[in-house]
Amino acid sequence: MTFMRKIFHAYILLGPEKETVKKAIELAQAANCDQTPSFCGFCDCCRRISTGSHPDLFHLFPDGSSIKVEKVRDVIFSASQPPIQGKRKVYVIHEADKMTQEAQNTLLKTLEDPPTAILFLLLAQNLKNLLPTVISRCQILDYSKLNENEKKISDSIKEILLEAISRPDLSKINFYVKQLTEANVDPDVMMEFMAEVYRDLLVIKTKSRAPLKNLDLLDKLNELAQNFSPRALVAAIETLYSQIEVVKSRGNESLAWYNLFVGLSEQEVM
Ligand SMILES: [Zn+2]
Repeated sequence: MTFMRKIFHAYILLGPEKETVKKAIELAQAANCDQTPSFCGFCDCCRRISTGSHPDLFHLFPDGSSIKVEKVRDVIFSASQPPIQGKRKVYVIHEADKMTQEAQNTLLKTLEDPPTAILFLLLAQNLKNLLPTVISRCQILDYSKLNENEKKISDSIKEILLEAISRPDLSKINFYVKQLTEANVDPDVMMEFMAEVYRDLLVIKTKSRAPLKNLDLLDKLNELAQNFSPRALVAAIETLYSQIEVVKSRGNESLAWYNLFVGLSEQEVM
């Protein structure tokens, strides 16, 4: 099984716990199986890793609501010792975003200057509570897109997003932001949807032959298209992508929505 060409010393695995645990096990196998950088999945080493009985594999869980610094100190001491059986010691930190700031800062020193035979796998739903310094020292693997069903945007939320596109009424901004932050869909997914709608409008406006992404909204799109010039649509897409960047890099979600709506309302539409 081909996996990845090179294995780094630290990764953040983003996504639902079930998915990231599976990927963490595969990475641990890839780091230790004789077939590195692939893994076979059935040798003694691979089996021990998948059953959790490999002496160089460690799982770290939060105590209640946090992972405290003492636990991370134990990890760092253990990490300074060579592997017992495998090629690399692997530390899987579950719900890594529950590490306290102190715990993250302690881990940071080891991430900056890692022992050679080490692999840290930080599992998290999102980057919000991780320190930028920690994030910057890890490779990010995003598995959050795998579960498309959890990403479905409901019709009522779509309606709000379309309303915001047609005319972000700033007197309703608190209502919008509340609905959207409580929507149970990642903000970047909702913003991507808005960007797609703007792209569709641009397609209509420029009479391009490119296919529309939201054919189901054709009537609404034709109606909306009358309100914008192509230049305004491009500007709106740019505004959207700047806020998508913000929410993807652990920025404040509510603030990103505020900035987005204010940005869109201030833009000329024609
Ligand atoms: Zn193997």
